[in-house]
Order: sequence, then C-alpha cells, then structure tokens
Amino acid sequence: MSNTKYIFVTGGVTSSLGKGIIAASLAKLLQGQDFKVTIQKFDPYINVDPGTLNPYEHGECFVTDDGAETDLDLGHYERFLNVTTSQANNVTTGRVYQSVIEKERRGEFLGKTVQVIPHITNEIKERMQLLGNTGEYDIVITEIGGTVGDIESLPYIESVRQLIWDLGKENALVIHLTLIPFLAAAGELKTKPTQHSVKTLMESGISADIIVCRTEHELSSDLKEKLALFCNVKRESIIQSIDVDTIYDVPLKMLDEGLDKVVLEKLQLTPKKDLDLKPWNIFLEKFKNPKHTLKIGLVGKYVELQDSYKSILESLIHAGAVNETEIEVISIHSEHLEDGDVTKQLEGLHGLIVAPGFGERGIEGKISSIAYARSNKLPFFGICLGMQMAVIEYARNQAGLTHANSTEMEADCKEAVIDLMETQKSIINKGGTMRLGSWDCELAANSKSAIAYGSKIISERHRHRYEFNNEFQERVFDDQFIVAGTNPETGLVEIIEYHNHPWFVGVQFHPEYKSTVSNPHPLFVAFVQASLAHKAK
Ligand code: GLN
Repeated sequence: MSNTKYIFVTGGVTSSLGKGIIAASLAKLLQGQDFKVTIQKFDPYINVDPGTLNPYEHGECFVTDDGAETDLDLGHYERFLNVTTSQANNVTTGRVYQSVIEKERRGEFLGKTVQVIPHITNEIKERMQLLGNTGEYDIVITEIGGTVGDIESLPYIESVRQLIWDLGKENALVIHLTLIPFLAAAGELKTKPTQHSVKTLMESGISADIIVCRTEHELSSDLKEKLALFCNVKRESIIQSIDVDTIYDVPLKMLDEGLDKVVLEKLQLTPKKDLDLKPWNIFLEKFKNPKHTLKIGLVGKYVELQDSYKSILESLIHAGAVNETEIEVISIHSEHLEDGDVTKQLEGLHGLIVAPGFGERGIEGKISSIAYARSNKLPFFGICLGMQMAVIEYARNQAGLTHANSTEMEADCKEAVIDLMETQKSIINKGGTMRLGSWDCELAANSKSAIAYGSKIISERHRHRYEFNNEFQERVFDDQFIVAGTNPETGLVEIIEYHNHPWFVGVQFHPEYKSTVSNPHPLFVAFVQASLAHKAK
C-alpha cells in the first residue's frame, strides 16, 4: 500500500459553488510546500464522458494529453498546478457502470448478483485509489461532483465513507463546501442551510472535517463559532471563502484562512519546505496592474454561456498577464454576424479569435468575420473550426473555389476543402471517436508559429473529426497562404498562416488546453503581442 493521503471535496446547499477552484487552490498551496498533488473529479451523471454533452449543458469539454474528454474542472487543475491530467482523473457514473457491466459479461463476478453495493462502490473505490496507488503522489484530492443529498451522488458518498474507514482517519479527510446565504431583507448571513447539509452528510456516515463556506460577506467570529459548534468541527476548520474578483486570488484567500495548515495537521503531515508562491504572485501582480488594454473579439455560437469557452478565456488572461495587458473579451455571436453589418460589429477590435465548434449554425458569420480580419489586417487567431473556416474563406474569396465548404456543413459539397478522413467515414458512434489528444506537429521554418514556439516540433491536443483535405493543397495554398504546421506521420495540416498580414494564424488543434499560469501558451502570447502592435498603429 502507498502512503498517499486522500482529501475528498463534497458540496452542499447548491451547485456551482466552485469546488474545483477550492480543490485547485488547496492543491496549489500544498504543491508550494513541495507535496506532489493530483486532483481527480468523480461526476455522478450517466454519460460515459462529457464529450457528447452540448456546451450549454455542461460548459466546455476539456481534453487531456491522452485524449480523454473531461470535465472543465480538470482545466482549472492543470492551469493552477501546471501538471497534466489524464483519463484517470475524471470518472463518471456512466464509466463506472460500463466497466462493471463489462466485467459481468465476462463472468468476473462468478455467478453473484451484481449490485450497487458492493460492486459499484468497489469499482468507485478502486478508481478513487488508482492515481494514489501509482506511488507518484503524496496527496490525492478527489472532488465529488453534484450536491450532497442528490440521489445520484449516493454511491460516491458511500464509497468515500468506506474508503475513509479502510484508510484510517489520519490518511483521509473530507472538506465540505457550502453556501452561507445573505438575506438582504434581514441584513443577515444564514447558517441553517449549512447545518442541514452537514447533517445530510452525517446521515450517510460521513462527518465533514473542514467546512469551506462560500459567502458574499465576511463571516464574523461569532458566526464561525456557531457553525463550528453545530457542525461538529473545530473553530479553525471553518474556512471562509469570500467572493473575489478573480479565481486566481482564491489560493491566497485560502492561505489567509489557514486551509492548508488544518489539512496538513489533520493528515499528520509536516510541510516539506516553506510555502513558495513566488511565480503565482508575480503573475497576480502583473494581472492586476496592467499597463495596456486590448479589445479582443471572440466569435462563437455558444457565447451566451461563459463556461463554453473557459480555456480560451483563461489562456487570454495568462497571455495578457505576461504582456501586462488587460484584455476585454467582446463576445460576438456568429449568427448575429450573418444578418448584421460585420464591419460595425468588428470595428474597434484589436484582435479576433474565431472559436471551435460543431455544426453549421452561424458558420457563414464566422467566415465573414475572417474575411474582415484578413482584408483589414486585424490580428486573427482561428482555433479548430475557426481554422477550418479560415481555409474556406481563403478558398472561396482568393483561390477561386467559390463552392468551397466543409462536408460537416454540406455533405455533398463540390469543393470539399474540409472533409472527413477515410478512417472517420465508417465510424458510427459519436462518443470518444474524434481525433483526440496529443499529436505532433512540425513547424515550417520562419513561420509566425515557429517564431512563437521557438522550436521545430511541437505537440498539441486535438478534438475534431474533420481535416483539411490534402487533395486541395495546390489549389488553396500559395506563397502568401501557407501550411505552417503538419503532422509528421499523417501529413495532415495542423496550422495555416496568411503572410500578407501582421498575424493571421489558424490551428487545427486546441492550444487553449495547454495554457497555464506559469506557462502561458506561446500562440496566445504572440497573438496578444500582435494585437498590441495593431492597437499602437
Ligand atoms: N466541427 C469541426 C470538426 O469536427 C471542428 C471541431 C472543433 O472546433 N473542435 O472537425
């Protein structure tokens, strides 16, 4: 057995309290004291992974190096900790059941009746310890999705109860995140919902060791005493998590409240070194004291929901901070570009991003915005679908392929410059069948991309089905519109650039999944620099 310690994070009262940010912030503080930490998320829904979910349902789908389509909280973990996650870091009820049912079909349960307890809970417990058992981590933080009391969370809560029993109290603890609502009419913060959710947890046999309280107002000392008394925890285990301007402040807030200290004490661990948050603080200092401002347009069809483009927005924050620039993101609905005046909607921007996406809704709007950026020399960054649309725009407007399109939008299109690969054509299932995860890309010498990355071979994460159709190489590309990156094994086009322009780059992959606080993505950094130069003119 490994010496790994386990921290479970549950949520009460309401969803969307930010368990992922609390988990990532705690991990940051522990990492800053030299502990090896990883975070995993267990989600109680029946989809095998969030890959088949519409962004409106669940926000962005985050993709790992090994090609797992995961919950967006894994993005926070990677961005905060600058470590990579994998398929093992995100488990759903669907995956758990799928695996138990496959075992049943293989006869592995030896004629027994297969039940939620013990078979589902055993599967969950096994998966909860998978990363811990590698011996790579001192501490594994496990976030349980959903809210305590939900029917679908029960097997997870029961698994946590059993695991704590197996591991021993000194090796595992539970942090319960709740809400302390403020009743404006009474002018009071209310503790009752928290008392009830702690009680609900207790009914399942788990006593919370630490309670993190989301609140809009400071919790008084009296209120903390009261919560401690009624919720059965020590006064120092009541941690206030007050609303902040940026999620990147949360680690410091948790430090002020002593969350890392109580955790280490309870797990009987001593810091391996004094906390070092220097790079984090430098980032925050730059982020909060910008010398420049930029207006960047983000064209997409899910812009109403901020979480749909989470990683892109965070990448802009990272790239903005290193450039000491505050970035105002102007969301532009691609459908509104279809029936409106494009110039009017894009005028005054310093750079334009065309977002990833699926399906034909709004794509003509995306193409018009790209035509505007290209001819007005506005810095342009096309990501995945955004790159595909940049190819179509150039093919139609410059290369004379007036019928150019993607077969995703027009199945029998005459000039299918974007098309399915042969290997994709026979695939029927939607889940987990796209080109996913990390693939290498060789950069063309002297391209904008090669300059930004400062290297020849890079590796980036993918999530798409369609590709540039190499049969059109000669008809689409010329001395100005070039292939700047190619997959060395397959010859697939990974990056396109237009050179009669200050900065026009389209990438088939998703650079946004690899940007972190300590490693802002080179293409986002270069795009911000180009946008600053555009503004200066
Ligand atoms: N719909 C496109 C494809 O599947 C682009 C996907 C994306 O933008 N992630 O190829």
